[in-house]
Amino acid sequence: MTGSSRDTYGGYRVRLVEQLRAQGIRDLAVLRAFAATPRHLFVPEAVRHRAYEDTALPIGTGQTISQPFTQARYLETLGLKGEERVLEIGTGSGYQTALLAALAAQVFTVERVRGLAESAQAALKAAGVTNVSLLVGDGTLGWSAYAPYHAILVAAGGPEIPPPLVEQLAPGGGRMIIPLGAKGAQTLTLVRRTDAGIRATPIGDARFVPLVGEHGFDA
Ligand code: SAH
Repeated sequence: MTGSSRDTYGGYRVRLVEQLRAQGIRDLAVLRAFAATPRHLFVPEAVRHRAYEDTALPIGTGQTISQPFTQARYLETLGLKGEERVLEIGTGSGYQTALLAALAAQVFTVERVRGLAESAQAALKAAGVTNVSLLVGDGTLGWSAYAPYHAILVAAGGPEIPPPLVEQLAPGGGRMIIPLGAKGAQTLTLVRRTDAGIRATPIGDARFVPLVGEHGFDA
């Protein structure tokens, strides 16, 4: 969000936002977050020229930065208002973390691959994002120290809803979005924690990298 990066990439970013709008993203806060977040700082040098294409890109160690449209749908579904404490599982490049940081009060993010976490931390700093705390570890265990969370976003696909994440979701309205199913083909699922219990609603097909951990797939 510094002056020089905006000068170089600002036009591309505006075009990405127009594409997201044309594909049906309506939440103004979400569109504003995309307009304000410098995606080029979160992708490796080698693919930087493609940073504002609406496509997934490789970020190293077999992981990918998700397609912006997918992330926009995810964020729209969470319906963040700006006051929330949010937990993200799978920091990856840190780009989605930065989008969340623009949409909520405080973001706690967990990444199991140390190298990715370190690059993400550096990119978040370069982007001027300050309301993020990052933990290297198994996100299927959540991050209990700062629970409960008003929203939880899981950016990797798992076989089941990890029980610790349900426990760390705020009762009376907490919402979690998680891709559930087999490796390579999942159903994006919205999980709501009401006072009466848990309600899971399927909201579409998804294709995410595997969620690896105690309540996920084996490494
Ligand atoms: N949204 C990210 C992309 C995430 S890719 C972005 O914008 O760049 C999914 C990430 O989840 C990968 O970085 C992978 O290492 C991580 N991951 C997989 N299982 C995990 C677990 N149990 N805990 C934390 N991170 C995990």
